[in-house]
Amino acid sequence: MTKGHDATPEPEAAVDLFIEFVNTLEFEDGEPIDHVGDPGRLADWLRSHDLAGGRLATSRVKRAAPGFRDLRDLTRDVIVRLAEGRDPTDVQTRRLNAVLRAGLHYHQLRRAGPGARFTVGQVGDDLEQAMAAIAGSLAHYVADHDLRRLRVCANDGCRWLFVDTSPAGRRRWCDMRTCGNRAKVARHRARTRSGPPARGSTPG
Ligand SMILES: [Zn+2]
Repeated sequence: MTKGHDATPEPEAAVDLFIEFVNTLEFEDGEPIDHVGDPGRLADWLRSHDLAGGRLATSRVKRAAPGFRDLRDLTRDVIVRLAEGRDPTDVQTRRLNAVLRAGLHYHQLRRAGPGARFTVGQVGDDLEQAMAAIAGSLAHYVADHDLRRLRVCANDGCRWLFVDTSPAGRRRWCDMRTCGNRAKVARHRARTRSGPPARGSTPG
């Protein structure tokens, strides 16, 4: 029993849902790659994150897609601000809360047919609820976690968002082997290029 708890804890996996969602728009050398760019892939992503059931009509997902894109942009903007040590703006908070509100739902006891078992069904738009789950994971993160750990990859062409879980909390790149290494190579090249003036370059 969970006696003594005044609220049901959010599932652990939901904590970084907003990070996973925002990174569905990936940048490679600054070029955007949208991993949920068409309704079929968006539906797959939602299903694989337990945010939608099996029966999603493509036309519905297509209609909802702009809302998901707006939420993704909003989430990225909020994270970038937080990573810079700034609070979300009032407008951003209002937009986030509107998504949370649109995801309102309730449960109902139903009988599938005469003599059939009762089932508990959820009333409300499942896609709006999926958006609210993503918005909720961001809201809980902002309220409960160390915001100084949010990072935007220091590689401008990448901009992957992540939570720095390193003990020292000084991680700058999404991945040391890719972006971190690229930065090291670039620094090395810059040093070699703007290194000490070549011999004989001093007029004399
Ligand atoms: Zn990166």
